[in-house]
Amino acid sequence: MFKAELIEKAARWRSAGDDAGRDLQSCPALVLNADYTPLSYYPLSLWPWQTAIKAVFLDRVVIVESYERQVHSPNLDMKIPSVIALKQYVKPNEFPAFTRFNLFLRDRFACQYCGNGKDLTFDHVIPRRLGGRTTWENIATACAPCNLKKGGRTPKQAHMQLSCDPIRPTSWQLQQQGKSFPPHYLHETWRDWLYWDIELEA
Ligand SMILES: [Zn+2]
Repeated sequence: MFKAELIEKAARWRSAGDDAGRDLQSCPALVLNADYTPLSYYPLSLWPWQTAIKAVFLDRVVIVESYERQVHSPNLDMKIPSVIALKQYVKPNEFPAFTRFNLFLRDRFACQYCGNGKDLTFDHVIPRRLGGRTTWENIATACAPCNLKKGGRTPKQAHMQLSCDPIRPTSWQLQQQGKSFPPHYLHETWRDWLYWDIELEA
């Protein structure tokens, strides 16, 4: 059978069960790189089951583990993959994108002045009016009260101490940070592929 036809089929697949689609939506596949480490930790690399099955038919991934649940087509029954691995290694970018989310992640979702985790905002360490730029090296996570207190001053002028100097993290460093924030839900078949201490966290 032609691949395109198989893919078309995958799109039309239905679960045998009653309220088909809905339940199936909660069967995402954990995506591993070709070295069997997660493609991404934070957010965890997960694909909807339809995408996972398409990738199987496109011969881009291997199935590592499966759910008990099956999907059915006229010609084929198939267990839904729960863990898949890319056949071709994807080299991670050395540096992550400069986004608000990644910046919070670098700072572990805590104010860099007082450690508070609520009402988080971004602080220009060297204020903009003094020429401070919006870069990894000049933006720190700050809670709203600290941001207000600091105002348009440098930390020194405001007598406020950063817990660590802002740096541009590598993707690897950011991923390491992400491991401290595991997702709320982890399917049992994913655990072998994630963190050593997952049993402790679960
Ligand atoms: Zn604060």
